[in-house]
Amino acid sequence: MWHGWRRELDWLALYLSAVLTAGWLLNQVWAALAVFVLGYLLRHLFSLHGLLKQLSSGSGDYPPSGSGVWDEIYYQFHQLRRRSKRRKKRLVRMVERFRNAFAVLPDAIVILGEDDEIQWYNAAAENLLGLKKSDIGLLIANLVRSPKFVEFLQTGDGGAHTVNIRSPNDPQLMLEIRLVPYDKDMRLVMAQDVSQLRFMERVRSDFVANVSHELRTPLTVLKGYLETLADADDPALQRYGKALTSMEEQAGRMQRLIDDLLSLTRLESTTQNHQRLKQVDVAFLLREIYDDVARMGTEHAAVALHLSSNAALWGDEQELRSAFSNLLVNAIKYTPATGQVDLVWRDEEGGAVRLDVRDTGEGIAEQHIPRLTERFYRVDSAVRGKVGVGLGLAIVKHVLLRHDAELKIASQVGQGSCFSCCFPAKRVVRD
Ligand code: ADP
Repeated sequence: MWHGWRRELDWLALYLSAVLTAGWLLNQVWAALAVFVLGYLLRHLFSLHGLLKQLSSGSGDYPPSGSGVWDEIYYQFHQLRRRSKRRKKRLVRMVERFRNAFAVLPDAIVILGEDDEIQWYNAAAENLLGLKKSDIGLLIANLVRSPKFVEFLQTGDGGAHTVNIRSPNDPQLMLEIRLVPYDKDMRLVMAQDVSQLRFMERVRSDFVANVSHELRTPLTVLKGYLETLADADDPALQRYGKALTSMEEQAGRMQRLIDDLLSLTRLESTTQNHQRLKQVDVAFLLREIYDDVARMGTEHAAVALHLSSNAALWGDEQELRSAFSNLLVNAIKYTPATGQVDLVWRDEEGGAVRLDVRDTGEGIAEQHIPRLTERFYRVDSAVRGKVGVGLGLAIVKHVLLRHDAELKIASQVGQGSCFSCCFPAKRVVRD
């Protein structure tokens, strides 16, 4: 930059001194100075005109050479143009590479504008969602018309949840849809073909259901004989008394395991039976569960029932009974006889309701909490002889999922636990 200025100043000094000398010789110093200033001004105006012409023409040609500082300006301007051209080319190549990568992805990708109109999609979207070139600019809800998908579009939540729908192009295909917001008003629809995965899940759950079912009959026979032997008054059997009791206990445990496995498989593999849905009077249901516990005697923690809401739920009574009983039985099981268990049915903000099952029992260490609802996940219990099968909370989680509800667990070792079933307002019925 300084180079240009140096040349400009050298030029100015040379011509100014020549003009002033000529003016002095002709005795016209002021006139010569005025002519010089005018010429100098015209030269700059001419160069400025050249630069403006270059800028507005947008041509990348090297501009006509000026002199002095203008040479430097033209040079810098040309460099700037070349750099921006190179950057633009790089960007275009990058966008092209991204597009190519998206195009060969096996998952469908659709870019939606602020009104959920289709702006771009990849090749897989043609197969999985049945989109065509002429669909660009149309609303996606008019093309993928599954009610589940349309509802998801309206409530879609930052990519955290997914929804499963059948492909509009091929009903054999099961798609898992995810919505990811980006930029200010844009959204990305991602659809993955999960047909194979769902098929494998069905095979697995059918297998578990079949095995459990087949085991049920022989186990009932064994248990029956064991009971008969344990009750028999035969002195020859007396030395086997301990063994028989232990066998009976283990057979009972196996039976509970099979029953729980069958319930869980049914909950996982079937959609909710709408004929069984009805208005469930939760206060009444909780009172029944509470009375059942009271009948168990008093050798366990004190149980109290607090009904501060009269809300009913739209749901499956049998499923809700099993979930609530599981939570209460756990609370009693993991709380010493001197402790306290509270069942609290209460209203939440916005019309939601919640059941808290609180206990003052042994509590659960933080690292176990996220895994408690996995099948067969058990924490070593300090309470001796309280061995469960580890399926209870998995059943609770599935029942709640089927009721659009959520299980929240808060616990502190040595202080106790609180298992909360949080039901959304849409499931609540109020008289
Ligand atoms: P289980 O048949 O073993 O009780 P669950 O699925 O019902 O199976 O519970 C899983 C594990 O969660 C239990 O093994 C226990 O360690 C822990 N748990 C459940 N409820 C409570 C509770 N109220 N207090 C402490 N631990 C609990």
